[in-house]
Amino acid sequence: MVTVATLAPSLSPTFIDSSSEIPIIDTHTHFDMPVFANDRVTLATQAWQSGVRHLVLVGYVQRHFMRMQQTKAELFAAATDNLNLPIPQVYVAAGLHPAYIHEHQQTDLPLLAEFVKTHQPIAIGEIGMDTYEDTLKTDSALAKQRQFFIAQLDLAVSEKLPVILHIRKAHAQCLKILKEHQYDAQQLGGIAHSFSGGEQEAKAFVELGFKLGVTGQITNPNAKKLRRAITCAVEKYGLDCLVLETDCPDMLPYSCYQPSLDTQQPNVPANLAYVFAQLSEMFSVDRQTLAHQLWKNSCEAFKIQWQYPPLIS
Ligand SMILES: [Zn+2]
Repeated sequence: MVTVATLAPSLSPTFIDSSSEIPIIDTHTHFDMPVFANDRVTLATQAWQSGVRHLVLVGYVQRHFMRMQQTKAELFAAATDNLNLPIPQVYVAAGLHPAYIHEHQQTDLPLLAEFVKTHQPIAIGEIGMDTYEDTLKTDSALAKQRQFFIAQLDLAVSEKLPVILHIRKAHAQCLKILKEHQYDAQQLGGIAHSFSGGEQEAKAFVELGFKLGVTGQITNPNAKKLRRAITCAVEKYGLDCLVLETDCPDMLPYSCYQPSLDTQQPNVPANLAYVFAQLSEMFSVDRQTLAHQLWKNSCEAFKIQWQYPPLIS
């Protein structure tokens, strides 16, 4: 995730379509961020209406781990004690994000391990390597990224948890570390979140056992390299290799952009329906079939047997 400008979140006026009856899983969100604080319950209800049945909050810095727990509790209360509102079930993943490497302290690693023992998140993430900004590319920053990545892979292995990978302009480094490490995605699961690599890299991550996380970027007709990489992976491995994510408040789907605004609205979980619809169109697969497949893929990525819900009539 990267920071977006603070605006009241809202849905694009055209978001509700026929996909609203089809159950989908948002495998990567930052729905605990303050930008959603004022209307989180309303947005969660809208997510449900657009088909989202499960939603994962993904960690990036240690100081916000408990904020994810609080968000989970807030939404659980809205779904049960308060109004019995239909909203997605919320899960937490915890990890120390490579783009925030300068913020992380060495003590954050044992604190992460303690959080995992106490709160039992469903995955370690987001973790990985990022060389997008110059400050992340210095020798010391790269060494620290590598150390934190390996330490968190160790934790995933010892806790038998999947990892959620964040990789930006560092696919080769990341693959090298993964190949040298005992972490086995075939066994533990895992997601290469907001996949942004090329065709060969897509194949390499799938070969290792990772699912490729597809965001609203795929809805951009100009995202040719991304579309080629995802298409190439699907041609070789089938639709088994994909999962859906919004990465909200980032990665606003293309059709939600409002060119008249200098600052765009934050992305929201309900917009996952756009990503789903795009994949259905790209691969000419009917929505029911695709929804079943993606549901199964999410279960495999997290090693959780979520039951496919009955359709809403
Ligand atoms: Zn993220």
